[in-house]
Amino acid sequence: MSNNYHAETKCIHSGWEPKNGESRQIPIYQSTTFKYDSADEMGKLFDLEANGYFYSRLQNPTNDAVATRIADLEGGVGAMLTSSGQAANLFAIINICEAGDHLICASEIYGGTLNLVGVTLKKFGIESTFISVDSTDEEIHNAFRPNTKLIIGESVSNPALAVLDIERFANVAHSHGVPLIVDNTFATPINCQPFKWGADIVTHSTTKYMDGHAAQVGGCIVDSGNFDWEAHADKFPGLTTPDESYHGIVYTQKFGKLAYITKATSQLMRDLGSTPSPLSTFLLGMSLESLPLRVERHCSNALAIATYLKNHEKIASVNCPALEGDKYYSLAKKYMPNGVCGVISAELKGGRESAVRFLDSLKLASIATHVADAKTCVLHPASHTHRQLTDEQLVEAGISTGLIRLSVGLEHVEDLIADIEQALKQA
Ligand SMILES: *Cc1c(COP(=O)(O)O)cnc(C)c1O
Repeated sequence: MSNNYHAETKCIHSGWEPKNGESRQIPIYQSTTFKYDSADEMGKLFDLEANGYFYSRLQNPTNDAVATRIADLEGGVGAMLTSSGQAANLFAIINICEAGDHLICASEIYGGTLNLVGVTLKKFGIESTFISVDSTDEEIHNAFRPNTKLIIGESVSNPALAVLDIERFANVAHSHGVPLIVDNTFATPINCQPFKWGADIVTHSTTKYMDGHAAQVGGCIVDSGNFDWEAHADKFPGLTTPDESYHGIVYTQKFGKLAYITKATSQLMRDLGSTPSPLSTFLLGMSLESLPLRVERHCSNALAIATYLKNHEKIASVNCPALEGDKYYSLAKKYMPNGVCGVISAELKGGRESAVRFLDSLKLASIATHVADAKTCVLHPASHTHRQLTDEQLVEAGISTGLIRLSVGLEHVEDLIADIEQALKQA
């Protein structure tokens, strides 16, 4: 697909350009295996000597079409779909890091990633240091060790809504010869293109806005193709030295700019298998067609509600990077000039009881842990996601007892504000 097309066009046409008489929608290849006429042809596939499909755990035409669509949207050279966002972040990291390595992770990050990095990867022998996205260059430099292999952060973080200074973090990462991985789930490529600012790898939980209908869990890794693994060959032996499981091929030599994403598919997906179902992927591909329209409305609804809440007497503060006066407003204007995301948070002056009464009084917005789909939903971190923490621990985590998180959906904004207004009266 032409790289000059706008995102709206890529969302509809990238990844699948039907030939004469072919299916207009991306076809669903709901098949585990693919047939070949000769033993030799299939042998070449196993040796990565030829391109083609043989088993859907590694590659599948439906999945590839949708992966290509997302790669095009991000401006990357290739992408791989995974069965969840968690698997995407796991694979993105362990495609580079192994036991004995170290990574730097933004502390304002999704709870699942926090556990993955801080607890599970530690058991694998991968150490980590968490630093705030507000860190100075010097503080980032100080987090580096000789065995540091990457930095990972979120373009706009779930749930803290902190904006990563992508260009600055990428510069520091590159000065140490390591890549920056950006989880772009909340902003989506419609609002933010991390590769333009120097990020090397992008990940997504497609479960959120990309699917957008709370229908299926999925993930994606996109490779910019820009990171020069060979220039720092000693740090990345997995990419720059022979892979014995493929007769000693060297990914950087054989696949050039596609080295990273090819290794992720042919090695990690082969051995660990977190493949999405083609049926789910088909739904994702269809959802992507309307992504730009949906994201625009999520953002305008969220901004209108944030503005309403900011002026409400029962609200102490509002977090919305697109709202003037927000701590991250200027970074959001730089990296996401057209909008940030549909998730906002606000603190009720009345604290815990008031927040619970507010939630219980809502009629349209539902209480749900999900975010980023068409239906507005709301959560009280102190009673839900952070329930195990004491009030003191909540303060330390930067979560006040009166904080509520709102994932603003696609309903008419006046209906949403009317619902919030009546619930705030009860709060
Ligand atoms: C939800 C989420 C994930 C995890 O994705 P799943 O699809 O739930 O596995 C990772 N990163 C971010 C920013 C998320 O919001």
